[in-house]
Amino acid sequence: MICDVRQHMLPTRDEAEFTEENDHNPQIRKICPECKGCGKRDIKGELPDGTRTWTLTLCKGCAGKGWVEGTQKFFENDSEAMPVKVSAMGYVQCPCCGWKFSIKDKHRWTGRRHIRCGQKIMLT
Ligand SMILES: [Zn+2]
Ligand SMILES: [Zn+2]
Repeated sequence: MICDVRQHMLPTRDEAEFTEENDHNPQIRKICPECKGCGKRDIKGELPDGTRTWTLTLCKGCAGKGWVEGTQKFFENDSEAMPVKVSAMGYVQCPCCGWKFSIKDKHRWTGRRHIRCGQKIMLT
């Protein structure tokens, strides 16, 4: 484990790894607040006849990278782990945000935290 990772070496949100050392809450490059990390923005416009238009453009805040100078924690949720029972089908209901998810779904469950809200959960 390298402790003094330099800022430009930090992973982006997409590259971040959830490990024992970082308590499944890795330090990452600061997510662009304008596009929330996706690198694109919907620009709302209006045609002369009044029709609303939405144009997907590259985010100006981050030039489409999805991150800006600085660092942040992947999750802002610092709460203690909460015990939750896993259903026979492998589903749990998050005690923080109330969403149900499968613990096999890597896009929802890091193995310790619910990705949607960052809540640590102790599976029982
Ligand atoms: Zn951006
Ligand atoms: Zn949750």
